[in-house]
Amino acid sequence: MTKRIRVCPKCFSSEIAETKNIQNGWKVPPSYACLKEGCGYSGTVFAELETADVEKAMRVINAEPEPEKAGL
Ligand SMILES: [Zn+2]
Repeated sequence: MTKRIRVCPKCFSSEIAETKNIQNGWKVPPSYACLKEGCGYSGTVFAELETADVEKAMRVINAEPEPEKAGL
């Protein structure tokens, strides 16, 4: 069985906070904020992905070439 989790569309972290907005008694769509340091993405649209897809995306992110180290 596949499990779907909501992740940050920017860094694919699942460490997100949901903010329920209630203004003057009116419910407005909840917004989400990424808790990952250095990301700070927030918005109302956070993708729900299957955990396998998240793992795949994380691998792609981690496979990004590191900036060249200035070695002397
Ligand atoms: Zn993020």
